[in-house]
Amino acid sequence: MKPARFDYYAPGSPEETVTLLAELGDEAKIIAGGQSLVPMLALRLAVFDHLVDLRRLDALRGIDTHAGAVRIGAGTTHAAVGASAEVRRAVPLLHRATPLIGHFQIRNRGTIGGAIAHADAAGEYPVVALTLDAEIEALSPRGRRTIAAADFFTGMWTTALEPDEMLTAITFETWEGRCGFAIEEFARRAGDFAMAGAAVAIRLDGDSRIERCAIGLFGLGPTPVRARDAEAGLLGCPATSVTAGEVGASATAQLTGIPADVHGSADYRRRVGATMVARAWHRAMEEASND
Ligand code: FAD
Repeated sequence: MKPARFDYYAPGSPEETVTLLAELGDEAKIIAGGQSLVPMLALRLAVFDHLVDLRRLDALRGIDTHAGAVRIGAGTTHAAVGASAEVRRAVPLLHRATPLIGHFQIRNRGTIGGAIAHADAAGEYPVVALTLDAEIEALSPRGRRTIAAADFFTGMWTTALEPDEMLTAITFETWEGRCGFAIEEFARRAGDFAMAGAAVAIRLDGDSRIERCAIGLFGLGPTPVRARDAEAGLLGCPATSVTAGEVGASATAQLTGIPADVHGSADYRRRVGATMVARAWHRAMEEASND
């Protein structure tokens, strides 16, 4: 199928872009890499009268490191994120998540801002943003604001962004100290969206107790979710006192709204999710313990 007819705009600055979005109203949509939007338009799952392309906005591209954090422009492609030595060093979880996204053609065009704004509950970047408590910057005609990842993903493919707001950058704090990070997912075919997955970040103190940890789950609800109760129960525990299997079971015990379809029931997905948490916990703990 072909998309319905639309008018096309390619503004030259971020400010011009959000002014245009405000003028055009609800029938306008941003297009970045087009890797999610174009298939939806082509299948007529979405119809917009106006597409506002970000391709001329060089200001939205690039990766900057400053004061214990990495700021990534919304228009930076998945491929550029994956190739960045700074991301690899300072935000290993983001680096490790990148090759799991689709195929290299998709990573060459898709952007981190697009992936986070699209907010697919099974997407890798949304869950990494949530797990690492990323800060999401947005611009509108009313000015700039920062949204915590915990407040950003509000429902299935729905975010805290207003219709005239553009995501401009995502900032990830660098975890310092004895840390380990891992992301694990199960997909029916390589490159497919995950049926269930988990991202884990752990920091140990000098006595090898769990000083900080974060467990993010994806593909297991309408949004990516944090297993906050499980995290709270792990803080202060000696690294050797918890088994990965226990962590997997407790992280998935209270999940609600797990999807079910021909590929698997909600109960099956919960069990797969528990295994993904256990695998990610094991790998992250191994890395932190050897740090
Ligand atoms: P677009 O498709 O251009 O836009 C997506 C949405 O985000 C639109 O609603 C658009 O309006 C909005 N948007 C884009 N940029 C901004 C911005 N700066 N501010 C506000 N709103 C914005 N993704 C995964 O995470 N994991 C996968 O395994 C995966 N597999 C895929 C497999 C296939 C075959 C395909 C086609 C895609 C797959 N994707 C996967 C999706 C891919 O990662 C997309 O690139 C990404 O979700 C959207 O990025 P984009 O730049 O292409 O955004």
